[in-house]
Amino acid sequence: MAQDSTRLLVEAEKILRRAVIDLLGYDEDTFEALRHPERVIQVKIPVRMDNGKVKVFIGWRSEHNSALGPYKGGIRYHPETTKEEVIALSMMMTWKNALAGLPYGGGKGGVRVDPHALSPRELEELSRGFIRGIYKYIGPDKDIPAPDVYTNPQIMAWMMDEYYRLTGDNAFAMITGKPKILGGMETRIIATGFGTAVAARETAKRLWGGIEGKKVAVQGYGNAGYYAAKFLHEMGAIIVAVSDSKGGIYSSKGLNPDEVLEVKKKTGSVINYDKAEKKITNEELLELDVDVLVPAAIEDVITEENMDKIKAKLIVEAANGPTTAEADVYLSTKKGVVIVPDILANAGGVIMSHIEWMNNRMGGYISEEEAKRRLEQKMAENVAAVWDFWHKELDPKKHTMRDAAYALAVKRVIEAMKLRGWL
Ligand code: NAD
Repeated sequence: MAQDSTRLLVEAEKILRRAVIDLLGYDEDTFEALRHPERVIQVKIPVRMDNGKVKVFIGWRSEHNSALGPYKGGIRYHPETTKEEVIALSMMMTWKNALAGLPYGGGKGGVRVDPHALSPRELEELSRGFIRGIYKYIGPDKDIPAPDVYTNPQIMAWMMDEYYRLTGDNAFAMITGKPKILGGMETRIIATGFGTAVAARETAKRLWGGIEGKKVAVQGYGNAGYYAAKFLHEMGAIIVAVSDSKGGIYSSKGLNPDEVLEVKKKTGSVINYDKAEKKITNEELLELDVDVLVPAAIEDVITEENMDKIKAKLIVEAANGPTTAEADVYLSTKKGVVIVPDILANAGGVIMSHIEWMNNRMGGYISEEEAKRRLEQKMAENVAAVWDFWHKELDPKKHTMRDAAYALAVKRVIEAMKLRGWL
């Protein structure tokens, strides 16, 4: 994992270099100015365990770039998290937030811990301890954390409370992803999947005039996959196939996402839905003759191995990193497949975080309906901005939609840095 996380940082720098130098035509100095995080805080967190002994955990908060606004990004708890991983992820948040058109820079936090091995009291101690280490550097106008891998609304509530104890500021807007009664948004649960569905619909409009009647396959039926399927179904698309880790199901006439979810909840998998025409494997799902493919499970599923067999004309990445770099270029430039990249398609969560932060600052003014409407509008604007940049500033035959997304995001950050006198 240590090697993997170094690889992640190398990959992140490669993406940045391509955007800054190859696509936007800036020089090496500009790349260097964007590459390094502005600050990385390392925290030692001693926790008195239930057996009476003190155990020390290490965590980091990487604040990558604040040109566009306060740093924003999640905090993950994972036994294999490293400083390099947290830095790489904070850099990716700078581009994601810039692309989403939010007034935020990029940040990320991580604590090296297996949270499942801790009791609730130990977990609370750890979460409060992490905030004690970073509280001087965070706040509603400085750096706003959120949940990520293995952290949740309860942990956000403890962190907010610890910030209150230390600073005296009962500042709801210092963290997002909180429980509803502490200023969180219930709409957060649908945000990623709904955002992906809107991204698919908006791109389909440009390709075919609309998503209605288009055949869709969704890989992965968790939070992102289920809500993507549910909202695409509501928008008039036909969900012909879905899958989870146990396998998939296919029905040419279309599946009802809610009925399938009921079966998954009761039996543990979508494969037990008996109204489907047939069962399929996850590999077969990716190669189906559909209009739209939504990978919403794990990374690296569309690769050099299967890229020749992909028949979808539109791929919308709900998952992070489902398409390898080789497959992305081959499908986009040789086969004319439009791939809506993860950084654009799965930004619903951070857009909802921004709505929560705004709502907290306004004293709880935005309703859940209004939050959903704002998310929809923002996703539509973002797809339009990337599409236009791709067609006007780059060459869609030579460059991928991912190229356009990163170039546009990096360009916005460079512009803000120039105006501030940082470049
Ligand atoms: P989840 O745990 O809720 O669901 C994951 C689903 O994928 C499950 O149905 C699981 O059975 C299935 N799955 C696991 N391994 C699989 C495999 N090998 N083949 C097919 N299916 C498999 O997770 P989620 O929150 O829906 O996240 C899914 C992806 O979306 C991840 O890549 C995540 O990083 C990304 N994402 C999620 C969010 C979010 O807010 N939920 C935000 C941004 C990105």
